[in-house]
Amino acid sequence: MDRYSLRTRKWLDLRFDPELVELVGHQYEPYQPVHGIGAGAWTPGFFMMAGRWAWLIEILRASNATSFLDVGGAEGYVAQMVRKLHVEESCSTDLSISACERAHEFFAIGTLASEAHRLPFEDDAFSVVYCAEVIEHLAHPVETLLELKRVARDVLIVASEEGVRDEAERARELEERALSDHMDRSIICATDFELLFPEWDTRVFGLCGQLPAEMPQSSKELSEALTSALRLDDFREAGEATGMIAVLFRDRSPDSLGKSFEGSARDVINFAFEHSAVEEAQSRAPGGVFLPARLCIKCGAKIELLKSSTCAACGVEYSEQLNVEDFVLQSEPEAEDGLAKRLQEEFPDAPERVEACANLQKLLDYPLMPGLSTRSLPLTIEAGWTVGETCQLSELNEEGLLLESEEHDPCMFSPELYFELASLRGVRVRLAVRGLSENDEAVQIFYRTLNRPLWWERASMVVPYRTTDSVMELEVGLPDLALFGEDDILTGLRVDPSHHASRSEILSVELI
Ligand SMILES: [Zn+2]
Repeated sequence: MDRYSLRTRKWLDLRFDPELVELVGHQYEPYQPVHGIGAGAWTPGFFMMAGRWAWLIEILRASNATSFLDVGGAEGYVAQMVRKLHVEESCSTDLSISACERAHEFFAIGTLASEAHRLPFEDDAFSVVYCAEVIEHLAHPVETLLELKRVARDVLIVASEEGVRDEAERARELEERALSDHMDRSIICATDFELLFPEWDTRVFGLCGQLPAEMPQSSKELSEALTSALRLDDFREAGEATGMIAVLFRDRSPDSLGKSFEGSARDVINFAFEHSAVEEAQSRAPGGVFLPARLCIKCGAKIELLKSSTCAACGVEYSEQLNVEDFVLQSEPEAEDGLAKRLQEEFPDAPERVEACANLQKLLDYPLMPGLSTRSLPLTIEAGWTVGETCQLSELNEEGLLLESEEHDPCMFSPELYFELASLRGVRVRLAVRGLSENDEAVQIFYRTLNRPLWWERASMVVPYRTTDSVMELEVGLPDLALFGEDDILTGLRVDPSHHASRSEILSVELI
């Protein structure tokens, strides 16, 4: 697994784990409306999701789907909705093991953890495959689209709010990318589907229309708003569109598509209103979970997986945690020629298409800096230091940075770092803080790590000082290592030189 994907997995594992979320001082907020939609609980975000779901149900019905997979399915809400509204054989995968645990816990849905470009399923394993708000976050979008195509027997639906109409729009979007966990990095263009699915019936729609000025409060009003607002238009013809939905049919698209959309929208809304699906799952006896046969992602052999399992054919080890099978090989490096081989197999007689697909992946690649591992951090803007919104950062004439702020808690963020946390005992910082009126102040250093990718109060240390204009040298220790995990990696520092407005000269920052 590549380093970006591993970071993303750790971030998602934190995002979807209520205990961890609480440990970092927040409350778990489900990504999907797993508690049902009561009056007032309906947000514009859910409205757009529901528009996609109404079309999903419509497509499942029009294509007589018999089995369903949601790739990147988060808490399993969509797989559960599909199970209730159309097809019993419905399951979900996600990169995050905690997301899969929630899906199992909330809905008793069959889930497993997997990278989207290495799904442990046979060819044509599902009649319909759905992948929404996922592709833009992935490091391997081209391989992923080919993988989704491989496991989808009849229909593949790929939705992305970041989708663009043409190369000029894509170039602008790519220009604006900035490294963060779960960033929008792979901007997909409507034409990519024609490139990757030449023999499929490809329809690229835009989810169009206006949200109502006020959120409707009853299920009747909501489904009316949904049917009138969220049309599916040809994406490239459409005016304002909230995202792209590519619907790809292996054969011809069914004539009945869209004819019963009103009914599908109503069913989706009724489901959302009537089901607090969590309670429902908790009151139901477990068992009867649908997941088709699993294959070793390295060699393709069939896997009998319960607790820990070693592939009998190639020896790779898989694991199971809290009822979720984990098919992510963290230590396995990516094969460098993986995509090239796959493209050869996919398009053996079309070298130009192979080259165009490889170029598309190159265009979407995001170079991840290896992370600084020199203990004395370079104090220049070019090195990658950034600041919060209300602060300004500039370079001093001598070596160092000047951090100015008229607000509380001025802060600056280090460039990407890479240090084994166990090899550190803290940070030594040399600085002069000017313009303070208080006598007692403090430097606060936040440690961000691979396992805890947040600027988190509990993962910070405070060292007080008496206000003075002269240069100070302070040592700031590490927080309790039990918060992180044994093999954790330091990926960044946040330095707050004071808790009040100030003008701080940061003269050196050294990891010790
Ligand atoms: Zn194997």
